[in-house]
Amino acid sequence: MQIPCTPREMDLFESVAGAARQIGVPCYLIGGFVRDKLLGRPTKDMDIVCVGDGITLAHKVAATLDPALKVNYFKTYGTAQIRYKDLEIEFVGARKESYSRESRNPEVMPGTLEDDQLRRDFTINALAISLNKADYGSLLDPFNGLQDLQDKLIRTPLEPGATFSDDPLRMMRAIRFASQLNFSIVPETFQAIADHAERIKIISQERITDELNKILLSPKPSVGLDLLYKSGLLKIIFPQMIDLVGVEMQEGKGHKDNFYHTLQVVDNIARHTKDLWLRWSALLHDIGKPATKRFEEGHGWTFHGHDAVGGKMVPRIFARLKLPQHAEMRQVRKLVELHLRPISLTKENITDSAIRRLLFDAGEDLEALMLLCEADITSKNRAKVKRYLENFELVRERLKEVEESDRIRNWQPPITGELIMEVFGLKPGRIVGDLKNTIREAILDGIIPNNYEAAYQYMLDKAKELNLTPVK
Ligand code: ATP
Repeated sequence: MQIPCTPREMDLFESVAGAARQIGVPCYLIGGFVRDKLLGRPTKDMDIVCVGDGITLAHKVAATLDPALKVNYFKTYGTAQIRYKDLEIEFVGARKESYSRESRNPEVMPGTLEDDQLRRDFTINALAISLNKADYGSLLDPFNGLQDLQDKLIRTPLEPGATFSDDPLRMMRAIRFASQLNFSIVPETFQAIADHAERIKIISQERITDELNKILLSPKPSVGLDLLYKSGLLKIIFPQMIDLVGVEMQEGKGHKDNFYHTLQVVDNIARHTKDLWLRWSALLHDIGKPATKRFEEGHGWTFHGHDAVGGKMVPRIFARLKLPQHAEMRQVRKLVELHLRPISLTKENITDSAIRRLLFDAGEDLEALMLLCEADITSKNRAKVKRYLENFELVRERLKEVEESDRIRNWQPPITGELIMEVFGLKPGRIVGDLKNTIREAILDGIIPNNYEAAYQYMLDKAKELNLTPVK
């Protein structure tokens, strides 16, 4: 076997090979599994292609492995899947695809292994390993994919223009693989992406976003994001990011390029978390800057309110990109809105109430927020970075102290709206909300202690000012 495999995988290959022999179809391991094994990357998705019917082979393999195994199959696509232990095995019959200008879907017909390799997107994804008796375990590599793997190159097996025009999702995939594997896209292939970028419009948003998420989850997302920008794809799929590009000069004063700053922040946070939504918050943290950019004479460039404006943009961006609309979006929005707050706490003479407010506002996302703020330091001046990080360390300590004494994080104010309505015989309405907020603010400002008795008394005092009297 020309790929490194575990004994369990070896046994499985034997079973597949045996089943294929019994029904008389040649079969091969192919695609991402072979690529990842050669690269030493962990992989649990195994693709098997056979010169025959993939669904029949899947049933035969399942029966050999364990008669109780379920085979999921899709007759229209001629594909079948088996989940075996921790592996996901997909079977497909080798096929030939031909695309016509008129239709987005290719005409598909049964083909040889070579036909099937030709329809694959990149040379590194077209590698196959034989599971047949005559050459069991040997690598079948018609497009020098192994060499491209060694040279870390993404290249299409066929003329790249046709490859991308036929299925424009491949442009996103090329960039995604470059980012995940830290590979380069060969110039001819990259040029074809730039030439066909507009074609991405025929691909569904879900599939585009899926690739975008994979880029964000890659070890160094800036690799993919910059390629998206340089190829012209970003402008089409995510135009708000393009507004961050560039530096404007006035009175000899410039500002930093917010696009490349953002990319660096994403890379910084990627070193500390694999959480997709934290990475999204890094990508969007300055998205409100273009809309709030002003030049103040004698002073320079300002972006006042870009945190709030950016936060407001998040729901629209998530909707357009068909990203989740609920908890994940709310978390990203909150982090964008709050991303300047810890900086304001690095100043001197910060009161406990300012600290308490951040604890309350950030709640369970406090750690995520601190990570975002630390990632946001992108100065090239090492001493400055060190100083800023130390300042944040002090903020973390203060947060911890106040949290320990007040337990304000994930805190629910002791007086609820229901209680206010009950005590004063009120119906739901503005006055109830106002009174509740006044009490909450008093606790956060340290005017009264954080306990029920003090809050209740405060409620009575404030209600009196409003001419409200308790009904019980
Ligand atoms: P990953 O699992 O990280 O997405 P992968 O390469 O395994 O990577 P899959 O989407 O599982 O990606 O596809 C399996 C194989 O099918 C690929 O390696 C490639 O050979 C082929 N393939 C997938 N999508 C396309 C496409 N749009 N055009 C051509 N070939 C494709």
